[in-house]
Amino acid sequence: MAPLALNLQVDALQSLPNLAELPTNEATILARIGVFRAFAAGDTIPIARLRSSQCYVILSGVADTVILDRDGEPISIGELGEGDFFGNSIFFSSHSLLYAVQAQTQIFALQWSIERLHEKKQHLPLFMRLLEASYLQRRAVSALSRVPLFSHVSVEERALLATQLTRQEFGRNTVIFEQGSAGQALYLIEQGQIAVEQHGVIVATLSDGDFFGEMALLSATPHNATLRCLTPTRCLHLPGAVFAAQVAQHPSLEAAVRRVIDERVHHSERVRGDQTRQHLIKVAVRYGMFRGSHVLVRQPAQCPPDCRICEQACAERFGQTRMRLNGAKIEDWDITQSCRQCRVGAECVEACPEAAIQWDDNGALRITDACTGCNECVLACPYDAVESQTIFLQNQQGPLWQLWQRMRQQSHQIQPKTVASKCDLCAGYDDRACLSQCPTGSLQLISIEELFPF
Ligand code: SF4
Ligand code: SF4
Ligand code: SF4
Repeated sequence: MAPLALNLQVDALQSLPNLAELPTNEATILARIGVFRAFAAGDTIPIARLRSSQCYVILSGVADTVILDRDGEPISIGELGEGDFFGNSIFFSSHSLLYAVQAQTQIFALQWSIERLHEKKQHLPLFMRLLEASYLQRRAVSALSRVPLFSHVSVEERALLATQLTRQEFGRNTVIFEQGSAGQALYLIEQGQIAVEQHGVIVATLSDGDFFGEMALLSATPHNATLRCLTPTRCLHLPGAVFAAQVAQHPSLEAAVRRVIDERVHHSERVRGDQTRQHLIKVAVRYGMFRGSHVLVRQPAQCPPDCRICEQACAERFGQTRMRLNGAKIEDWDITQSCRQCRVGAECVEACPEAAIQWDDNGALRITDACTGCNECVLACPYDAVESQTIFLQNQQGPLWQLWQRMRQQSHQIQPKTVASKCDLCAGYDDRACLSQCPTGSLQLISIEELFPF
């Protein structure tokens, strides 16, 4: 495909209805760093989470956007046409939406690399605002689409409903509503974790994609639980009247909500009548089990007496172990004291003044070279998963290199450096040392759903 002349690309951008106000200097920058692309009808354009990925605006043509629901089933969240962006979510969130775009007709688009947009963003103020508004709108639609409750509602109605949603942010420990208060809205969790408490007992936790507030609305009774944020939490708020109108229009929606209510009532009755279950949930919340998607655990009964091979393997690789055995006990499991890779509101990330703790593309939070060893993250982590470590420069270059560095240090040519250290799931390695070297298979990186199937 021959490149389009710069002035034609500028014209093409400014002729899009949503970019009509785009100043010529912004349009020119975008045209310069953009690549003109054509896709045939039927092409699928995958949207990756990587910073090296691409962002597009459709100049002409129609496409369908498909996301996966919570069970991994594809669902359409609507059509894209002239002026619509896609691939822009990575720009605004490290946990960006993962979706695919399918061309229904031939599509002409302008494509930018996310990296180039980052470099130029201070010169693109209006464009960045439009890009963010489009991202937020798609987030709202996809949040609605992922809630099984709204699978009964058409794509068009979901898009309309999304315009009635308002985003609300709550800090850690904020009570969203109290048990006994009146119901006023339905809430959908976009991001975050919330404890459901009845009479001071945590009976459940909710997270991304879950909804709450439905019971009080449907039964016109006060809330039967207090909802408390365990992490900073972002919710979409649907006014009770809008929800009631939807329920009136869609009897199947009411039936689906009532099914969820029955399940929740049944679940909370079981928890309230079962001290062991209550204890497990309490311990799981206390030790941050639900903060990440997986956790390093072992079954002590399978471990030979005094075996610490996993700790030693980690220490050999990193100079100091990043996990400790004998953390919290949950049934037959020993939950190791190691980083949970907290998906939302990681205290270490919030505390770091250098923004040195960053997500990598494999879902691990990694401490980068920007760390100054200030100790803030060590103090902030509620699970004691970060420790200080004294390193010698290039300490991962092999024993001879380290010996040489130590000799230089002894001759005062270099100083040791203190940095923070925590498990990053062996980022940059082909294996996880602790798991690879565990001789019995007792140590596992296990999914939270497997550990807590309730
Ligand atoms: S260091 Fe602590 S706060 Fe940070 S991600 Fe790991 S467990 Fe969470
Ligand atoms: S010790 Fe390093 S990673 Fe931790 S808060 Fe300080 S600069 Fe950030
Ligand atoms: S996964 Fe790697 S960094 Fe994490 S505890 Fe195991 S060996 Fe250490």
